[in-house]
Amino acid sequence: MTNSTMTNSTMTDDRRTDRTENPQSKAWQTVRKGPSRHWVGDGFPVASVLSPQPGRDGVDPFLLMDHAGPAEFAPAERPRGVDSHPHRGFETVTVVFQGELEHRDSAGNSGSIAAGDVQWMTAGSGVLHEEKHSAEFTRQGGVLEMVQLWVNLPARDKMTSPRYQELLADDIPTVPLGDGAGQIRLIAGAFGEVQGAATTVTPVTLWDVRLAAGGRASLPSPEGHSAAVYVRQGELRLAADSTVAAGELAIFERSGSQVDLEALADSEFLFLGGEPLDEPIAAHGPFVMNTRQEIVQAIDDLRAGRFGTLG
Ligand code: MN
Repeated sequence: MTNSTMTNSTMTDDRRTDRTENPQSKAWQTVRKGPSRHWVGDGFPVASVLSPQPGRDGVDPFLLMDHAGPAEFAPAERPRGVDSHPHRGFETVTVVFQGELEHRDSAGNSGSIAAGDVQWMTAGSGVLHEEKHSAEFTRQGGVLEMVQLWVNLPARDKMTSPRYQELLADDIPTVPLGDGAGQIRLIAGAFGEVQGAATTVTPVTLWDVRLAAGGRASLPSPEGHSAAVYVRQGELRLAADSTVAAGELAIFERSGSQVDLEALADSEFLFLGGEPLDEPIAAHGPFVMNTRQEIVQAIDDLRAGRFGTLG
């Protein structure tokens, strides 16, 4: 959400294996436990599950994943959140699970998103962005939970014009899964004949999955694509002796064409991946470009007021 997420890099790679059971099945490579939470602005206690750090094995084209909450907020007068901050070179995707947020940006977009809704913002050449608890949520208080992801843009599209997709819960297709044991909400990426809600620049998959205890699923993931699972609630089994618990991210090998898993408890998780960009990353706080020179240019452009204004 802001550059403060860059300061926390204490994720641990605590298990590694390359075992697999079905030859079509992607073997899991790493299971990472998220770090302890830190505050982003005064509104979002987040665990940074992924960070845009060169040299780490990631989930290309995903750069960052922050999981905020679930956290209870008392009724208040002044909305908490993150004041004006820039972004350039990627997209920010905000998925709300509980509570309500309001956001606006210097491209003139604004709106509020509540449980089930998604904001997919293409920062491209640059916006100023503000993210706050909604006025209503602030007044009433309650539980807030959301995930924010940063999706990288390919070099040719990093300076594209900013745009914005508001994907309300009713706009996001849901497909049943695992013999009635669950469902997938297709935020981005097709499942069979059903298209995901978001328009993406490169092939990106982002699914919000629920699977009841004992349910099994084989999630398609094309050969060569990145794939990862982040468990928000419950616990999944990936192979005979490997599990992913709440707060953990499992990253899979690119080879294979599906991800097989089983819910050991009623589980809610995000399935993410896509076609890797495999391009150099130069990351500096809210700017993610390909070269250091482009970072210097971004800082210069921000200082010169070329990111516009947020009135
Ligand atoms: Mn932002």
